Amino acid sequence: MGTVRAVLAGLLTIQAAALGAAEPPTLQVGLATRDITPQGPINLAGYASRKKPADKTDTPLLVQALALRNPDGERFVFVALDNCEVSRAFIQPVIRDLTARHQLAAGAVAVVSSHTHSGPVLDETLADMTETQPAESQQIAKYSRLLRERLVEAADAALADFQPALLDAGAGRATFAMNRRVYQGDKVVFGDNPDGPVDWEVPVLRIRGTNGAVRAILFGYACHGTSVRSGDDWYVVSGEYMAYARQHLEAVHPGATALYLTGMGADCDPAPRGRLVDARRHGLELAGAVMGALDRPMRPVRGGFKIAHEEVDLPLADPPPREQLEKDARSADRHVRLRAESYLKRLDAGQPIPLSVKLPLTALRIGDDLTFLLMGGEVVVDYARRLKRLLAQDHPWTVGYAYEVPCYIPSARVIKEGGYESDSSLIYYGFYGPFRGSIEDQLVNRMASLAASLRSR
Ligand SMILES: [Zn+2]
Repeated sequence: MGTVRAVLAGLLTIQAAALGAAEPPTLQVGLATRDITPQGPINLAGYASRKKPADKTDTPLLVQALALRNPDGERFVFVALDNCEVSRAFIQPVIRDLTARHQLAAGAVAVVSSHTHSGPVLDETLADMTETQPAESQQIAKYSRLLRERLVEAADAALADFQPALLDAGAGRATFAMNRRVYQGDKVVFGDNPDGPVDWEVPVLRIRGTNGAVRAILFGYACHGTSVRSGDDWYVVSGEYMAYARQHLEAVHPGATALYLTGMGADCDPAPRGRLVDARRHGLELAGAVMGALDRPMRPVRGGFKIAHEEVDLPLADPPPREQLEKDARSADRHVRLRAESYLKRLDAGQPIPLSVKLPLTALRIGDDLTFLLMGGEVVVDYARRLKRLLAQDHPWTVGYAYEVPCYIPSARVIKEGGYESDSSLIYYGFYGPFRGSIEDQLVNRMASLAASLRSR
């Protein structure tokens, strides 16, 4: 009996320690969610071949903010956004406003787009990918205003919701992401490549209050939001598999907010895929992976956060000569034509044409137990794999589509091989490339230095 009592007392001590009863937690966390489901028909972003606006809704779309505060008052905000992506032109006014009003450091507001391909088109983002009628453009402008307002509201509310928080990290695994680069002769085409690289890790961060109740579950996955890609379901507003994963998690943990941070898997698609039922299935698999991680022993994440942020300039190949631009300006392909016309207009006006692309990078380290590595753009999976190997000691969590999406961010291998992520996607982003092959080492080296600058000495 005495032994039982001693064991019980021991267990209670362990539990008290785990709940931070002995030591108050260092970090405070604030949370807020706003609905951004569009009302009425609207064009959806992500596929040039969609022909009409969506007029049905599957899941609601959300913008969710998770704010962190150090004891000295320093703050950082993750904003998880149900949309394909945001451009610099679209998001910078919002970031400037939030940063100034809350006196935040550069890079302290990280909007991470879920990359659902069933969310509305936004102003100034992949503007020429979707051909729209004037009434449709008005609808897009109206929705863009609403999204910006709600995003700011969510960030403001999270920054006013700080409560002491206990953090624990873990990881699961989901296997529906499939590399989509298939080698056909000397070309790379879309398809299922089961031999290609993927990142199946499902990173999880559990956030509890000092009473032990789960307040939030942050999770990620490295895969396109493209479970739906055909039929009537293609014209339905949906948060895709990540929204389903959130719904499943919130059903199992009533009162908790589930938030999704997109990983670096821009050359991976869900497989097999096609309809909304596939998005539901992928969401269930992802939620299962998260629940598995929550059920196993987790790694306490203690201490305050530190952030290192910068913008890099990624060099592009030399732009094509004028003759090529003039030829492209006569192309039957509308996107090829628009890109060439914009270059010719700049040349004629004596304006510079793009020679490089700016990309934001951030390392966010919490104590010695977790480091988020955030990168803008549609980042291919080679970066996730290389950064995780290189920075394993920092407990890395790789995040893509962060801050803004100027284009795909291919690796040296993908640039060498060519294909959509290196070449043809740039038509939709409005500039010529490809990137120079040196960008992979440039990005990895910069990210490694940012992470190293945060290690405790
Ligand atoms: Zn994409």
